[in-house]
Amino acid sequence: TSFGFKEVREEDKSQLVGNVFTNVASNYDLMNDLMSGGLHRLWKERLVSKLNPFPGMKHLDVAGGTGDVAFRILETVNSVKRRAIQDPSNDNLHEETEIYVCDINPNMLNVGKKRAVERGLGETKSLIWAEGDAEALDFPDNSMDGYTIAFGIRNVTHIEKALVEAHRVLKRGGRFLCLELSHVDVPLLKQVYDYYSFSIIPAVGELVAGDRESYQYLVESIRRFPPQTQDFRRLSMKIW
Ligand code: SAM
Repeated sequence: TSFGFKEVREEDKSQLVGNVFTNVASNYDLMNDLMSGGLHRLWKERLVSKLNPFPGMKHLDVAGGTGDVAFRILETVNSVKRRAIQDPSNDNLHEETEIYVCDINPNMLNVGKKRAVERGLGETKSLIWAEGDAEALDFPDNSMDGYTIAFGIRNVTHIEKALVEAHRVLKRGGRFLCLELSHVDVPLLKQVYDYYSFSIIPAVGELVAGDRESYQYLVESIRRFPPQTQDFRRLSMKIW
């Protein structure tokens, strides 16, 4: 398979991805802010507002890393709950919300657990950290109201297997939301983006995290990801 601009065999991809996220875990959140100019926060807010989380929901955030998406979902559920508490006809308020953060890399999850404590979410039973592979989820069929995967699917070796698993664990009517970076087609913006991603991001990676190669991988993985149209539609038709 062609992998970014280097040839990487399929069987080597998970090893490579594993190494990258082990290397970047401790600086991951700082680098996310630096690389996106803080924009990843707005994109994640948007993802969670589209998800429309509710108290009592069972949710799975795959490739959940350091918990950014899961924290936002839980905080939204908590604020919905505070607002709805006055209405006694709201039965689901008493059901326990369960938000699973599933990631293949234990280092990312460990950073996430520390962040949960810092955010005052360390004691909550609603946040459950689970080491696992998007391609073979350890969750029962029809068990989830929602499934999110943010900046994760391009790192998975067989995207179609991850999608089949998402479909399996979701309840009928459950919601699947994928947030991903893809290709820039607007001419001038494309040139700016190319320069930024090829020159600036690896340099910032080296400067801040002392690791040019991992950030080079992240840039290349975006280029390798299918464009916004067509490919994904064809891929999902094969699955559903
Ligand atoms: N979702 C988080 C966020 O938006 O900040 C983290 C995204 S990070 C760019 C990608 C994550 O995908 C890493 O934590 C990595 O360990 C995880 N990952 C890669 N391959 C995976 C797989 N097959 N199954 C589960 N997680 C995977």
